[in-house]
Amino acid sequence: MLSNDRSESVFGDYKGSYTRDAALAEANRCLFCTDAPCTQACPTHIDVPQFIRKIATGNVKGSARTIFESNILGMSCARVCPVEVLCVGKCVYNDMHMQPINIGKLQRYATDKAFDEGWDFFEAGPDTGKSVGLVGGGPASLACAHELRRLGHQATIYEKRAVVGGLNTTGVAPYKMKADRSVAEVEWILGIGGIEVKTGVEVDAAKLGELEKKHDAIFLGVGLGEDTAMKIPGADLANVVGAVEWIEQMKTGRVTVEGVKHAVVVGGGNTALDAVREARGLGVERVTMLYRGTEAHMSGYAHEWKAGETEGCRAEWQVLPVAFEGNTKVERVKCVKLDAQKKPIHGTEFTIDAELVLVAIGQAKLADFKEAMAGKKNVFAGGDFQNGGKEVVNAAAEGKAAAKQIHAFLMGGTIAATPRSR
Ligand SMILES: Cc1cc2nc3c(=O)[nH]c(=O)nc-3n(C[C@H](O)[C@H](O)[C@H](O)COP(=O)(O)OP(=O)(O)OC[C@H]3O[C@@H](n4cnc5c(N)ncnc54)[C@H](O)[C@@H]3O)c2cc1C
Ligand code: SF4
Repeated sequence: MLSNDRSESVFGDYKGSYTRDAALAEANRCLFCTDAPCTQACPTHIDVPQFIRKIATGNVKGSARTIFESNILGMSCARVCPVEVLCVGKCVYNDMHMQPINIGKLQRYATDKAFDEGWDFFEAGPDTGKSVGLVGGGPASLACAHELRRLGHQATIYEKRAVVGGLNTTGVAPYKMKADRSVAEVEWILGIGGIEVKTGVEVDAAKLGELEKKHDAIFLGVGLGEDTAMKIPGADLANVVGAVEWIEQMKTGRVTVEGVKHAVVVGGGNTALDAVREARGLGVERVTMLYRGTEAHMSGYAHEWKAGETEGCRAEWQVLPVAFEGNTKVERVKCVKLDAQKKPIHGTEFTIDAELVLVAIGQAKLADFKEAMAGKKNVFAGGDFQNGGKEVVNAAAEGKAAAKQIHAFLMGGTIAATPRSR
């Protein structure tokens, strides 16, 4: 499904993986706190001290089991979680001004080993005769479907794209994880058996009604919609592109930056930060992020911006594009400076050359689905669609929690026994 000459292939693996010795050394630094703040900070509440202790004692299989019991997407989370603001950010070593434990890399060590060795930990529960339709094939639906299978329910995923994995496949920065690794993880998750995946099926509000007749419950894991466009002159010029759309093309196919001497990214969130680093990594000489607020107020993570700066990315703070100019393709961006209240400052207009503009000012919320599910007891939701856009680990947590709610709904309020493991 994915070609080998994808544009994302030029990127390296910026965090890399541990050797056995390095993993052992890092694991042995852990203080194994009793009410560990790292576990509390993890949305899936992985028992971090326990999985690290198991690595330290040479029980890597047990370690991977501990991780996957809480988070079936533990392999991709190990690569893509913003650990600096989650588990690692809460490590007690921070308070001692010492290097915190590299939890993400240890998690990657254990989960990659499980993947490479083909260890499987879970099996489907006894058949309940109930079936659930899941709309969207991203992390939320995958976590939900896997847990539903462990509880004995049939699960069918309807995914509009040709590839599965959602933004884990089409969105996350290639220096964290490439699309084929995400697809491989999906296949590994589907290894539990009995999860049917129908790709190329877009479910609209009308089709949702049909699915409700076919299944006993529905889970909506549809994520967010299209990139929000800028409503300014020239927004429809060629090479003015939504950042998420461009990133998807780069990860699953090819984008060209030939002839692009200066790329401009509009926005100050994490998608904007990814886009500047990606454009730069693809070889664009000058890349500038235009953000309407100050550096201190951008919603993107400071650690990601720091990394971007060291890679040569620049930013113009308190600036608003007012027009994109050019013949058929964008050639210039007309901007104005903003004051502290984000109001244009008269007489501060300026123009910068740009042959590529990536617009990263947000994604649409899928209001139709919100309306379609209103008041329905058999329709559940999770992930970006429900939380407005967070992280993969939140989608994994919410998908699993929804599976437990669906189970209670299907079984008449009783959450039977425990989900099946091997
Ligand atoms: C550019 C970018 C980079 C990111 N980087 C990171 C990162 O480094 N770390 C991190 O933790 N998080 C990151 N995220 C966020 C993370 O990817 C999401 O939080 C997570 O993927 C949400 O999972 P989900 O299943 O809710 O939605 P999605 O991953 O969006 O999956 C939804 C799926 O539903 C499908 N779908 C939508 N509508 C329909 C329909 N009508 N019918 C059928 N199928 C449909 C979509 O095609 C998609 O496959 C990033 C997000 C973006 C945009
Ligand atoms: S899933 Fe993410 S947040 Fe949770 S422990 Fe692992 S790396 Fe940390």
